[in-house]
Amino acid sequence: MIRPIIRYGVDALHRPATPVADITPDIESLIDDMIQTMYAAPGIGLAATQVGVALRIFVVDISLGRNPADLLTFVNPEFVEREGMQLEEEGCLSLPGFNATVARPARAVVKGLNRDGSEHTVEGKGLLARAFQHEMDHLDGMVFVDRLRGLQKDLIVRRIKKLSRTGKW
Ligand SMILES: [Zn+2]
Repeated sequence: MIRPIIRYGVDALHRPATPVADITPDIESLIDDMIQTMYAAPGIGLAATQVGVALRIFVVDISLGRNPADLLTFVNPEFVEREGMQLEEEGCLSLPGFNATVARPARAVVKGLNRDGSEHTVEGKGLLARAFQHEMDHLDGMVFVDRLRGLQKDLIVRRIKKLSRTGKW
């Protein structure tokens, strides 16, 4: 089932998520829904907070569904290693129409549970490292705009507020 993706400004997106106690059938169907929702968007990653569920789960697929091995699910993820820095343009399904250059680690290793409850550790470089950091931020109630400073941030926030006021957000 495709779930609605909540946008910047909705409280649930800005609150940190809590760890998953058990991978129950409900959690499994949430993960299935998140994968479907990510592909339908389409996007390369989706965190549970973006569908209004305050649990520490994210899915990523930098191949957008072209390569089955690229689909990764993380339950209760944590960083094992992060290093380097990359500056690239980034967007978010919760902020359609907005992009900004965000500093992210060049390499990130994430450990967490798979959909089946087994543990896995995955190394991401480049785009995958960026996606890992972006989704981990979501689980802490952060979006890429929160990583921006000064004018760049003000401009996006102001434009979103204006869209909200006119019912276009
Ligand atoms: Zn996002």
